Amino acid sequence: MTQPPGHQSHLSIVIPAFNEQGNLGELYAVLVPVLTAVSLPWEIIFSDDGSRDGTWEEITELHRLDSRVRGVRLSRNFGHQYALMAGLAHARGDVVISMDADLQHPPAMIPDLVEQWRQGYRIVHTRRTDPPHISRFKKWSSDLFYTIFTLLSGVPMESGMADFRLLDRQVLDEILRFREDGLFLRGIVQWVGYECTTLPYRCQERFSGTSKYTLRKMISLAWAGITSFSVIPLRLGIYIGIVTSILAFTEMAYAIFMRLFTTTVVPGWASGIAVISFLFGILFILLGLIGEYVGRILIEVRRRPRFLVSERLGMRDEG
Ligand code: UDP
Ligand code: MG
Repeated sequence: MTQPPGHQSHLSIVIPAFNEQGNLGELYAVLVPVLTAVSLPWEIIFSDDGSRDGTWEEITELHRLDSRVRGVRLSRNFGHQYALMAGLAHARGDVVISMDADLQHPPAMIPDLVEQWRQGYRIVHTRRTDPPHISRFKKWSSDLFYTIFTLLSGVPMESGMADFRLLDRQVLDEILRFREDGLFLRGIVQWVGYECTTLPYRCQERFSGTSKYTLRKMISLAWAGITSFSVIPLRLGIYIGIVTSILAFTEMAYAIFMRLFTTTVVPGWASGIAVISFLFGILFILLGLIGEYVGRILIEVRRRPRFLVSERLGMRDEG
């Protein structure tokens, strides 16, 4: 927030959208009076994540009516985190707020976020206070994920953290330097530090359409989050290895003892097969886990661009 005197700060609102045609008009209509009340020059950046409905046409229409609405269109569906990153990369504001396109993140809270920024906070997180319409499964899976994530990564994160947040330009510039695949912005924003605060918000009902986060996308985000922040799953292999080695060694000692000092024939077949299949099972899990991390290294060293832009509205070629 250290700006030269006389510098007028700008506000950017970044909104990723995947098949959200039915929401953008309403979102724009709700945002305009709120943003006007903040009394900072503003822009809205819609990041179209390869939508197959009329989302891009809607953005084009809004841009035609109001040049403060800008758009970036990805060449296909890259996923929420990348669409968000694409929008953030195109934002020009000194202060940037990201939010969902479906009006679940209340625009009325924007002045509160900006107020915290004016107080000197460079990151303003938000945390969902669960309303009754959030499904029990969503709440339970979110609690479980954040507990495991915090445990494995050492990066403290509370359940209900959303990608509805404010970032100061300095923080955003740092975050844009993160080039990793398996992007998990929520974790990165926690990791970077800086003066931050958290505001609670009441999650609204989706205005139109259905959730674009399928269970598959949710699991893949959770997995990306854990594997990009922790190698503890790999270390787990060592612990499992130690425990199974002790068990195998005990079994061996027992077999030798029986052979040397008793006349009992060790009934070997069933227990032998059981131990072997158990150990093979564990071995394959560990191999799979190592494969997963090696695969990520491969993706990382290729240094492919994380998303491709097919069109831009109201901006130079950047990002
Ligand atoms: N989204 C996206 N790409 C995707 C999935 C979702 O850009 O592949 C956007 C979506 O349009 C919305 C935000 O990410 O603005 C959050 O998605 P959604 O509301 O479907 O998730 P939920 O609120 O159900 O977790
Ligand atoms: Mg939503």
